[in-house]
Amino acid sequence: MTSTMLDLYEKIVGEAVIGHLRQLAEPLADMKVIHVNSTKNGGGVAEILHQLIPLKRELGIDAKWEVITGDAEFYQCTKRFHNGLQGIPVGISKTLLDNYEKTNERNAEVLREELEDADIVFIHDPQPAALLQFCPDRIGRWIWRCHIDVSKPYRPIWKYLRKYVVNYDASIFSLPAFARHLPHTQCIIPPSIDPLSEKNIELSREEIDSVIHRFHLDPDKPIILQVSRFDRFKDPLGVIHAYKLTKNFIPVQLVLAGGGAADDPEGEIVLNEVKTAAADDPDIHVLLLPPDAHRTINALQRASDLILQKSTKEGFGLTVAEAMWKGKPVIGGDTGGIRLQVVNYHTGFLINTPEGAALRIRYLLNNRPKLQEMGKKAKSFVLENFLITRHLREYLTLMAALTQEDVGERLEL
Ligand code: UDP
Repeated sequence: MTSTMLDLYEKIVGEAVIGHLRQLAEPLADMKVIHVNSTKNGGGVAEILHQLIPLKRELGIDAKWEVITGDAEFYQCTKRFHNGLQGIPVGISKTLLDNYEKTNERNAEVLREELEDADIVFIHDPQPAALLQFCPDRIGRWIWRCHIDVSKPYRPIWKYLRKYVVNYDASIFSLPAFARHLPHTQCIIPPSIDPLSEKNIELSREEIDSVIHRFHLDPDKPIILQVSRFDRFKDPLGVIHAYKLTKNFIPVQLVLAGGGAADDPEGEIVLNEVKTAAADDPDIHVLLLPPDAHRTINALQRASDLILQKSTKEGFGLTVAEAMWKGKPVIGGDTGGIRLQVVNYHTGFLINTPEGAALRIRYLLNNRPKLQEMGKKAKSFVLENFLITRHLREYLTLMAALTQEDVGERLEL
């Protein structure tokens, strides 16, 4: 099979990696695989699916992506799931839970035929988790793919969601620390970035400069950047605090770039808090970007001297891998998936407080050779561990394992 996309990946990851993918995909050819999540734009899950689905298709798998829809109350409920799973003690009324179930039931009515007919269904995160119970005649294997840091969930929320998750054939978590007591196969598969996407491809110096110019950034002052939805777990106020501590000693400008996710109702509140904290400081740039601003984010990451991801909880943190791929060290919260990517003192620094972040920012801005060395290590760490080809290999392996009998039959033919 000749294929341009895979040929391009081959140039980055090598022939053996692509050959392996083709080999793994062969027995899965024409399999109907459906991924379901709750937003086409915004957040890491959508980011990954945009890239993963075409790649699976190129490998001969009949892959599709479906998005469930819901009203404001549905997203209010699922945001509370999200907060609860990440450890915040939240209450959810029976009315909201009933609406969650009804919304899943309504979506199942629309999608039932194809879901029940699919060989493999990947359900991403809690929003569509209840779909399974409304597809009683499904013939395929269903996998619950959790992207959230569920290491210490608020018990009542996990207990509620668990009753849906137990009926799946497998679940996937991003880190061993997130695995739960479940009566089925659990896999640890960290997410990945796509080096060929608009978010991550190489850009010309002119394009990077034009973005610096467009947002009125000072080309002669170091730039520190955090790219994130405006979400409390991303701690944008902590980032502003760290910046303020830094600028007492060294000239620096801060860019907080973010946008909303269609399934995140709290963004606006957090954005207003950020704007208030940033007021009157011309060196803080709060950029509210549209969901398709991938090249702009790419340019901002490349224009920055170093990147912050000061999350207090993080399922994985694609923004970390994106920054590292651009040769930037990351100063990140010592939590969840950031720990997997930021190897302390090597690819960046892990921190717990704004003071800790400020100390590391100063250290790196005052030690350019170290900053560059860490950035170089960061890039090769992503090349080895967090590119989409590795992610796909692990998905294909799991798909083959779960459909072993069908695959066995196909191979005998
Ligand atoms: N992102 C974006 N625009 C924004 C904010 C974030 O395109 O305004 C992207 C970001 O580059 C990354 C993804 O959305 O690819 C966020 O994924 P991450 O795992 O960092 O966090 P999540 O939002 O899933 O918690």
